[in-house]
Amino acid sequence: MSGNSPVVYFYDPEVGNFHYGPGHPMKPQRLAVTHSLVLNYGLYKKMNVYKPYRASYHDMCRFHTEEYMQFLQQVTPGNVAEFTKCLSSFNVGDDCPVFEGLYDFCSRYTGASLQGAAMLNNNQCDIAINWSGGLHHAKKFEASGFCYVNDIVIAILELLKHHPRVLYIDIDIHHGDGVQEAFYLTDRVMTVSFHKYGNYFFPGTGDMYETGLESGRYYSLNVPLKEGIDDNSYAFVFKPVITEVIKCFRPSAIVLQCGADSLASDRLGCFNLSFKGHGECVKFVKDLKLPLLVLGGGGYTLRNVARCWTYETSLLLDETISNEIPYMEYFEYFGPDFTLLSDKGSNDNPHNANSRTYLENILKYVSENLRNIEHAPSVQMHYTPPDWFDGTDTTAGHQLSESEANNEFYDTKDENKEKDVSCKKPDNNEK
Ligand SMILES: [Zn+2]
Repeated sequence: MSGNSPVVYFYDPEVGNFHYGPGHPMKPQRLAVTHSLVLNYGLYKKMNVYKPYRASYHDMCRFHTEEYMQFLQQVTPGNVAEFTKCLSSFNVGDDCPVFEGLYDFCSRYTGASLQGAAMLNNNQCDIAINWSGGLHHAKKFEASGFCYVNDIVIAILELLKHHPRVLYIDIDIHHGDGVQEAFYLTDRVMTVSFHKYGNYFFPGTGDMYETGLESGRYYSLNVPLKEGIDDNSYAFVFKPVITEVIKCFRPSAIVLQCGADSLASDRLGCFNLSFKGHGECVKFVKDLKLPLLVLGGGGYTLRNVARCWTYETSLLLDETISNEIPYMEYFEYFGPDFTLLSDKGSNDNPHNANSRTYLENILKYVSENLRNIEHAPSVQMHYTPPDWFDGTDTTAGHQLSESEANNEFYDTKDENKEKDVSCKKPDNNEK
């Protein structure tokens, strides 16, 4: 392992073992499969691999209410009947079920994002990767869209201790509503979300005209897209929007949510991005050379989520990897072609409903709004709250040696591995 790699990567060997329940499209196992590919491509040698810290109750209450966190801490599949009255108020039920180890799951994915933010603050890395994070729908006092605790908001709050302005970019197919809502009134965080909008597509927010309020006016930016968007059309809006945002907002750190449900053939999505088109956005943001926290998010065709995030790990490391999937414990998931960037013909959404005129109009509107913030706000940082930890505390989540990384992770056997072969379109718009 290189001693001073600019990239840190978090992986909790337990995080892939949680189950939302039979038939639920969100499968944490995708994280174990992604990690297995990252290991077997040898990418772990090029970055510092950490078994992350687990977020405490107190950490999670930095955004969420105590009432809601207490509920998450106490509820189990066994005692859920005692909480009947709370379930609907916390929006827990079908989409966001109570499953075994729910609180523990939240604490693990949130801890990794928080530690990533703290290490960026301390200049211990240039890029921090947590594919288990990116749960952008969770609200202050309720669960939403398979998300319970909003690790993104908690990580951004940590970054704000050192950074006057943080940019959040979201390329999940769903609107990044939880993050937008959390920072809707402030000019210190600019949220930029590219997503499918219209026809009641979940969560229903993210119209171009949602731009923020009070001090936050013009600091929420939405790019509502229609079904079937392809690589060229996506890049046509993504690149100029981000370029202009950087110029006007001048962030000193970026958080990038890389939801993989914007890929073609996603079980719940309806966009038509290839791995290269999705990865192009990641590369574009990386090339801005600002401290960067990279997170996962949605993604419901398991093998493609693993392909996407492995490929993007290689892009973040500037490493070229073979298109042939290395032999590993989930090898059979990648048949029949066993390639990384498989050129699937199974295109569910061949029609790109985004006309050039439609996209040009969005660009024009965004550009007009950004003109209002042409000068980056000067943030008076009178008081910097104490760091959550300085990243050198070994109890806070430890770095794995090469052999440790290898052994620990090669040994994990998931007896319940469930192959996600379903690519059928849902009959309703889930997340
Ligand atoms: Zn999504």
